[in-house]
Amino acid sequence: MDPFQNAILFLESIRKYINPDLVKYLDRLKTPHNVYKTTLKVGKNSYLAFRSQHNNALGPYKGGIRFHSQVTESEVKALSLWMSLKCSIAGIPLGGGKGGVVIDPKKVNVKELEEVSRAYARFVAPHIGEHVDVPAPDVNTNPQIMAWMLDEYEKIVGHHALGTFTGKPLEIGGSQGRTKATGFGGVLAMQYLLNTLAQDKKYEWAGKPKSQITIAIQGFGNVGYWFAQIASDLGYKVIAVSDSKGAIYVHDGLDPKATLDCKREKGSLAGCYCVGGVCDLKKGKPLSNDELLELDVDILVPSALESVINSQNAKKIKARVVVEMANGPVTPEADAILHKNKILVLPDIFANAGGVTVSYFEWVQNISGWYWKEEEVDERLDKLLKKAFEALWQEYQRLKNVTFRQAAYIVAVNRILTAEKLRRPTS
Ligand code: GLU
Repeated sequence: MDPFQNAILFLESIRKYINPDLVKYLDRLKTPHNVYKTTLKVGKNSYLAFRSQHNNALGPYKGGIRFHSQVTESEVKALSLWMSLKCSIAGIPLGGGKGGVVIDPKKVNVKELEEVSRAYARFVAPHIGEHVDVPAPDVNTNPQIMAWMLDEYEKIVGHHALGTFTGKPLEIGGSQGRTKATGFGGVLAMQYLLNTLAQDKKYEWAGKPKSQITIAIQGFGNVGYWFAQIASDLGYKVIAVSDSKGAIYVHDGLDPKATLDCKREKGSLAGCYCVGGVCDLKKGKPLSNDELLELDVDILVPSALESVINSQNAKKIKARVVVEMANGPVTPEADAILHKNKILVLPDIFANAGGVTVSYFEWVQNISGWYWKEEEVDERLDKLLKKAFEALWQEYQRLKNVTFRQAAYIVAVNRILTAEKLRRPTS
């Protein structure tokens, strides 16, 4: 299945809901403005690399760079379209972009990783900039990689340009609160939804005490870990997490920090049944990744890669709400099945928008040279995401028969097309 074609099909499916005076501009979202590709040569090795700049009607292109062996041009294009929508729904003045390198970072040493990162920065240097296109981390990339890329970029342009990359280390212009931002934003999104649902008799379960709301998280990278940590600090019960090797189930609710330490020590989550700081083999049991997805929990949080909930397993999903912390974890076929089974899906372009929102704050701080405290970042994130949720919820209620995903797309697309109309009404 072609990811970009899928994304376009979904855009088409909301055509009938787009404001009549804007719909004639919808086709402008069907082709990215620019797609750059090259082969990065590092020593004897070659790596295919891409940068897709989807749309910049609302502001500079914005989006991460992923390092993964499965990266394809179509995937990068789809991810860049989703970034346009994500920035729009978050209400931040940025457009959409995405980059990728076909590489398995686990198979290369740190020197090679640095060289690949620098080569990527040289490749995109003519096409990026604080007011042009602002990359950031994504799957398998991190603040260190952003530091190498920024350094290489600044060598080329010959001056500091901190606002050209976000997700940087704190010491060189990173923002407080950026590392946890995606996970934190996801927990906020979940809370807005639960609080809203709890007002409705049909969803009485959403008003249960937090300690009885059960959560299963697929993926225990930066996003999955922070979602688990913040949710459990707030009192929710995280009963299962997984990584690429397998999942663990801890009936009493696991301790994310101790679980992460245990995973780091052992190299995998196997046997890391940690409750209240103590890891004990009697406290949990292993599960397969598929079993985790099919657990009877209140909240299921896919936070790794695309298409983990698909036509094969969608019928078996028992969660009441799916919070999409990964980009595109539910395929269109699966989405229809979940909708039919009355499982609510908080869509990626809203649920994981916390990361890019704090990237925006980082960019603002870099450009102004004025840095904020973590509480200030957190508060501003809460305000923006709450506003985004309210817009999404209002559209969802107004249109009645649409999914949350459709409602989010409608809000996001209408905003981008308004900017398109204001900029280029006739072309
Ligand atoms: N990679 C993240 C995302 O998919 C963050 C992008 C950014 O901060 O620009 O939303």
